[in-house]
Amino acid sequence: MIEIEDQGDAEIAPLIDGELQPSIETRRLQLVNPATAAPTASMSIGAPGDVDRAVEAARAAFRDGRWHKSPPSIRKAVLHRFADLIDRDATTLDRIDAVDMGKPIGLATGSARSAASLMRFYAEAVDKCPGEAHDSSAGSLAVQIQAPFGVVGAVTPWNFPTMNALRKLAPALAAGNCVVHKPSELAPRAALRLATLAAEAGVPRGVLNVVPGLGSTVGTALAHHSDVDLITFTGSTHVGKIIAESAGRSNMKAVIAECGGKSPHIIFDDGVDLDAACAFIARQILTNQGQLCSVGSRVLVQRSIEPRVTERLTELMGKIAIGDPLDRTTTFGPLASQQQFERVQGFVERAEARGIVRVLGGAGLAERPGFYFAPTLFRNVPPDAEIAQQEIFGPVLSLIAFGSEEEAIAIANGTVYGLISYVWSARIDTGLRVAAGLRSSVILNAAPPEGEGAGHAMAFEPAGQSGLRPEGGIAGMAAYLRRKSLWINYPATAA
Ligand code: NAD
Repeated sequence: MIEIEDQGDAEIAPLIDGELQPSIETRRLQLVNPATAAPTASMSIGAPGDVDRAVEAARAAFRDGRWHKSPPSIRKAVLHRFADLIDRDATTLDRIDAVDMGKPIGLATGSARSAASLMRFYAEAVDKCPGEAHDSSAGSLAVQIQAPFGVVGAVTPWNFPTMNALRKLAPALAAGNCVVHKPSELAPRAALRLATLAAEAGVPRGVLNVVPGLGSTVGTALAHHSDVDLITFTGSTHVGKIIAESAGRSNMKAVIAECGGKSPHIIFDDGVDLDAACAFIARQILTNQGQLCSVGSRVLVQRSIEPRVTERLTELMGKIAIGDPLDRTTTFGPLASQQQFERVQGFVERAEARGIVRVLGGAGLAERPGFYFAPTLFRNVPPDAEIAQQEIFGPVLSLIAFGSEEEAIAIANGTVYGLISYVWSARIDTGLRVAAGLRSSVILNAAPPEGEGAGHAMAFEPAGQSGLRPEGGIAGMAAYLRRKSLWINYPATAA
């Protein structure tokens, strides 16, 4: 097995038509281990010409049907093998994510094993998106099939590099598409490793191509490419909007976008188990150092229990094992980059300058060389404050007091986002009323430890500026399929 330390510069290059090919761009950027701030490797910043070559390879693979025209049972077997290989190399993939962006290897959320299990769901789904036949008028039969789009461009972020890659690749490949994947410039290695495993599993050449590089070189070229049929994106709302605009300005390619969030926890003083709620909330904001799209980073708490919740969260957020992400006992690692560190610090400083009360954290951990930022808690945060409105993507929690149910709903809905909301109530009527009033999907009394629930079968469809189209489940796979209709007309009576 190749360990991360053995992967030099040579491996971080475009992987096109089954071959690592040098980028045509000679300018390079440095990758940095966020736990130490030490350089690890360098790679080309990438070029539109790399994207052209990758799209050509994907188009050729799609045109001759080497993937989507092979029998579903074969595709299913190949994708199951792909899942098995991800499992086989799970330790290496988790180490790659740890070194590239600081996700602790002991973290189950977004681990390579959970990515393998997602791949298995979609391997099984290969033949689970059937078409429809409609009996129409005499002498006519209408058939609707679901056909792959063709060439899919996938642009992914740095948090959970393996898992976020699979959230795109698994449904796109299961639906029969050919893919050009542009991973984040901070964490490109997992994508290359996954493409190598896909090839080993039997995914034909040209079906999965990877082009590392910057958003401003590779990402923008992919989003503007006129021979890409669908662009699927995970990342910030800011870039998601640019991607949608690029799609509209070029060939009107379809867009799937999973973007930012400012998800609320809403806790009622009605006998709900506050210890369970606080344990979940604290664990979640510390998961991957708060760099989790679905994290509840605003805690709306009924005024009567605000002091108790503040006290409990302060205590729980202090209980962390800070350390090297490569150490299995570490529960709290660094932020992904210097830029991310400065971004989080900026939010905290501006909140303090506005006079918002901080009860925990608030600064980097000076005793460590990397980009470690202490768990941070603010209370009595005005709902319109920047830290209550903007996605911080760090271990920073804002407590907001509310009086009535209506006020809680208004505050919860009062950002541009609509990814997910968490409601904590002992009363099912409260839970259902609040869920009905919230525009996002809702989790009522989330169970610690975070369970799989319906497995991978549930789809999430973001609301507001959190994105476009569903991800997950069969609905998530259908987003990578185009409905194609066929009307068959025949003489209604025999000649
Ligand atoms: P980002 O938007 O900065 O970058 C995401 C990707 O887009 C990267 O690969 C980047 O290189 C590329 N990119 C940047 N500019 C581009 C451009 N002009 N054209 C095309 N591509 C471009 O996001 P990030 O900092 O990598 O990740 C953090 C963000 O991801 C957070 O906002 C988080 O909420 C979001 N996220 C959302 C989900 C979800 O499911 N909703 C999941 C994970 C992360």
